[in-house]
Amino acid sequence: MRDPARVVLLGPPGAGKGTQAYRLATRYNVPLISTGDIFRRNVEEQSDLGMEAKSYMEAGELVPDDVVVGMVTATLDEAQRDHKGFILDGFPRTIRQAELLEEHTVEGGFPITAALAFTVTDELAVKRIAGRRTCSVCQRPYNVELSPPREEGICDRCGGRLIQREDDREETVRHRLEVYHAQTQPLLEFYRDRGILHEIDADTSVDEMTDRAVATIERVTAGAPGGRG
Ligand code: AMP
Repeated sequence: MRDPARVVLLGPPGAGKGTQAYRLATRYNVPLISTGDIFRRNVEEQSDLGMEAKSYMEAGELVPDDVVVGMVTATLDEAQRDHKGFILDGFPRTIRQAELLEEHTVEGGFPITAALAFTVTDELAVKRIAGRRTCSVCQRPYNVELSPPREEGICDRCGGRLIQREDDREETVRHRLEVYHAQTQPLLEFYRDRGILHEIDADTSVDEMTDRAVATIERVTAGAPGGRG
């Protein structure tokens, strides 16, 4: 019996989290919950949530914890009911969010199995973000150098147009990295204390990162009770 993958992905913007999140969720057939994608969809639809998040996102700041946590727990409960596993990309991002996530998942009987932290220098992160593109329709991530689409500017999966995110401009990226170091990096210690932190050097190929992430997930879920069988 295998415990399903309930995984948190950590790392600065530009570490390749989004790409790995997409690959892992596909491989394990579990929902991918990306708070950044949810916010971007809401901004596009001009929903109340989107209006609330927009100014923070444009400035490279974090959206307030209460707003994020309420949104994620509802989605997590849905994932838990249907699939019993998930990949979380971009959440939690503060200690408060991590504490609330822990409370919610432990109480619900579906604790996080692993926190994978992708480590990369700020310089490489900035360089990678310059090449980043996202499908405007299905949100699939690409990198013009590291993981290009088959046809330039077009999504392999759905044929959507690839776009560059507004907050991927260098100045905003530098600020997002500062915010990461101040508010999110302490989460590595949080998960290390709980014995579920696994660091993965992200200064390598996209495939190699996936191999390392998969090997880690296989290791932590092998033989554990409570899986889908
Ligand atoms: P991302 O795509 O994960 O880089 O997220 C883009 C932006 O959405 C961030 O710069 C934040 O403004 C906001 N955001 C996404 N996830 C969170 C979160 N867990 N907490 C606060 N803000 C978030």
